[in-house]
Amino acid sequence: MEEVFKKFNSSENGLSAKQAEENRIQFGTNELKKQKKKSFLVRFLLQFKNLMVLVLLASAIISLVTNFFEPDGGNIFEAVIIFIIVIANALIGVFQERKAENSIELLQKSTAPLATVIRDGKTIKLETTSLVCGDIVLLKSGDVVPADLLLLNSNDLKCNESSLTGESISVDKDYLSNENNINKLYNGTFVTNGNAKGIVIATGENTELGKIAQLIRKPKKEKTPLEKNIDQISKIISIFVISVVIVVFAINLIFSKNSSFLDSFLTAIALAVAAIPESLPAVVTIIMALGVEKLAKHGAIIKNLNSVETLGCCNIICTDKTGTLTENKMQVQSIWFSNKTLSSDSLIEDKIFINCLALSNNTVSDNEKLIGDATEISIYKYIDANNDIDQIRKDNPKIEELPFNSNIKRMSSLHDINGKKTLIVKGAYDYLIKDCSGIYINGKTVALNGKYKELLDNLHHEFASKGERVIAYAYKKTKNIHDNNLCFVCLVGIIDPPKKEVKKALDICKNAHIKPIMITGDHPDTALAIAKTLEIAKSTNEVLTGEKLDRLQDEELRKIINQYSVFARVSPIHKNRIVNTLKNAGNIVAMAGDGANDAPSIKSADIGVSMGKNSSDVTKSVADLVITDDNYESVVLAATQGRTIYSNLRKTLQFLISTNIVEVLCIFIISLIMPNVIFLLPVQILFINLITDSLPAFALGLERPEKEIMTISPRKRNETLLSDEIGTHTIAQGFIQSLLVLVIFILCNFLYGNAVASTMIFLIICFMQIIHAINCKTNNSIFSINIFNNKVFNISFVLLFLSILAVALFSPLQILFGIVKLNFVQWLIVALSSVSIIPLVEFTKIIIRWFKK
Ligand code: ATP
Repeated sequence: MEEVFKKFNSSENGLSAKQAEENRIQFGTNELKKQKKKSFLVRFLLQFKNLMVLVLLASAIISLVTNFFEPDGGNIFEAVIIFIIVIANALIGVFQERKAENSIELLQKSTAPLATVIRDGKTIKLETTSLVCGDIVLLKSGDVVPADLLLLNSNDLKCNESSLTGESISVDKDYLSNENNINKLYNGTFVTNGNAKGIVIATGENTELGKIAQLIRKPKKEKTPLEKNIDQISKIISIFVISVVIVVFAINLIFSKNSSFLDSFLTAIALAVAAIPESLPAVVTIIMALGVEKLAKHGAIIKNLNSVETLGCCNIICTDKTGTLTENKMQVQSIWFSNKTLSSDSLIEDKIFINCLALSNNTVSDNEKLIGDATEISIYKYIDANNDIDQIRKDNPKIEELPFNSNIKRMSSLHDINGKKTLIVKGAYDYLIKDCSGIYINGKTVALNGKYKELLDNLHHEFASKGERVIAYAYKKTKNIHDNNLCFVCLVGIIDPPKKEVKKALDICKNAHIKPIMITGDHPDTALAIAKTLEIAKSTNEVLTGEKLDRLQDEELRKIINQYSVFARVSPIHKNRIVNTLKNAGNIVAMAGDGANDAPSIKSADIGVSMGKNSSDVTKSVADLVITDDNYESVVLAATQGRTIYSNLRKTLQFLISTNIVEVLCIFIISLIMPNVIFLLPVQILFINLITDSLPAFALGLERPEKEIMTISPRKRNETLLSDEIGTHTIAQGFIQSLLVLVIFILCNFLYGNAVASTMIFLIICFMQIIHAINCKTNNSIFSINIFNNKVFNISFVLLFLSILAVALFSPLQILFGIVKLNFVQWLIVALSSVSIIPLVEFTKIIIRWFKK
């Protein structure tokens, strides 16, 4: 130890700020090397890895070269504008990808753990990256070890080193051991039991974790159902489009007298590039990332994009009680001591009583701020009001401690009181009473007979039924920290009132067919009292205890589990079993908790939620969703957002597919029935799809939630993006637009000739699509919603409207896009047909709703 202190110029008081800086320079920072980010150029070039886009570019080059050598100069504009559109599209892609990545990175940073460090003799919280060799670090159960440490002190310390060894069973650690691995803690592992103090001996790349960092870089993740679903949809569309493109190309080549091989090829490829939704997975990721970013502003951080889809189908939210449903502002309310029930303001001067409450408590006071467990802080405050705790602790030093453990629901500590070793045990009444044989009454120990036992049981029931958390104390003069036959001292009832705003959030849950479940280590009477106030449960029939749970076989439990809303007196193992059984009973479960002991169940849940600022590092690291305030409302908000994002993805998809149907179907039919006319030019097809299609699709992904989103049942897990009536709406809307376009084109072609008809149909499709995006905002009538509530949508609508007008009216652009001048009547036809898509789609919506009924 001496050697280590000397090597790093450190001491029990930690480093000074100056020394820390020197050590940072000499021994390095506490960061692992990050993978290099792709440069802008690489990202840009990667946008072209799509085969169809490459073929399109190649054809454009060929077209450019052949036209260049034509005697009249040919039409080189077409190739140029294809380049511009493709490059613009790639730039938009890079920009959106960057934005998505940045927001995710920011989110991850905000959930990074902090380390508790002693510097200049003061205990402070530091970002783990600021740690240097020689720093003194304090650790408790649930903390992730921030660097490699040599232990200076430890109490009943166990550590999970699975991140290094793959072994999931915790290993014992002890500062007194001479064995190299037992007296050290390693970066990236976590404390599962006890507490410790250690000195940093290696940081960053020099830690054991750093040395094997290459090996443990995350393997590629398996695709989620949503991603698989998107891939499937893209594949079906691609096959369909390619078949149509081949037929169109063949027909053009064989029957069309006007077009050359190159022209036909360019049209075919433009159609393929436009209609094959290659970028769909990217658009989906961006929409999710933006939704997630929005949620982060409300204190709910989704660490993994894929959880968004699961959030939308969640039908059960399990939470612990303290701090999530209740204020976590605990206060001692009732006391029973020496045959008297007292309120918290009555003065008790008995030495044994005071010693028990003051010594079996790890709360520390740092500049008036109390640091520690909320239950213990409340007892500290109570006893500190009339006593000098520091002096009591100094006079009766602690020799050994078994920290509080929620499996056995107690904490034991051995003290030197007046030269005699004394054991003090505090814990849950029903657990502790079993180890007591005496009771401390009026300064004497008497036998704990049946009469006293009955009295204590009744008192405990009385305290708990008021919603109080009841802590019992016992003591014994002994050297053995594991001793029993203790002497019962007192009962302390602590209140922790339910949060006011939780009630509202619970109501939203119930409306949305999401069942709230309370899982707590507290006594069933305490749990039910709180559950009743919050209307989570009405009677004891809805409460299941850990003890009863143990008596049920898995299959029995699965059959009855859905009838319970409160699980009381449970241990961490029970929590995990409850979550797994709920899942097996067909539910999609979100599990919220904060303690390290919640981590296994949080990991098992479909959506693991880590609650609050005080959440342990392990809980944070296994959770899918991190709530930065302790607010239950944020969990409900996340569920709403999950549903919204999914429903928005459906809107985007509905819009993209229904509009793609129009182009593919119309081009196909026209080339069949009128092989000699020009329907749309390749540049026009590209403009429609890469510009007027992509912006509204993206904007639809940012729609506000529809009113009914939190009143309907959660989506079924096996439901796909296009199942339910969404598929029907999409196809119906695609067909109705196609019909309109075909009829108008054939008529106009007859009335005004091919050139005018082609221009009119290009403008109609452009305008119709941006107007049709409004239809896709809801599958109810658009007149039932506020269609102006999405700013991005409104801006993109106006921008697109103006750019279509620019293409139609500005003569250089007219030349580039092959547009001819239209007269008033023709413009009127364009306007009326484009707008008519609103009543037409409204009509199909009514028909589909009617059929559904
Ligand atoms: P919740 O989520 O409602 O807080 P929990 O699962 O975290 O519940 P525990 O902290 O395990 O519950 O507490 C279970 C019981 O253990 C409590 O009812 C109380 O009697 C006892 N207890 C809680 N904290 C301590 C402590 N620091 N020392 C001794 N006993 C405690």
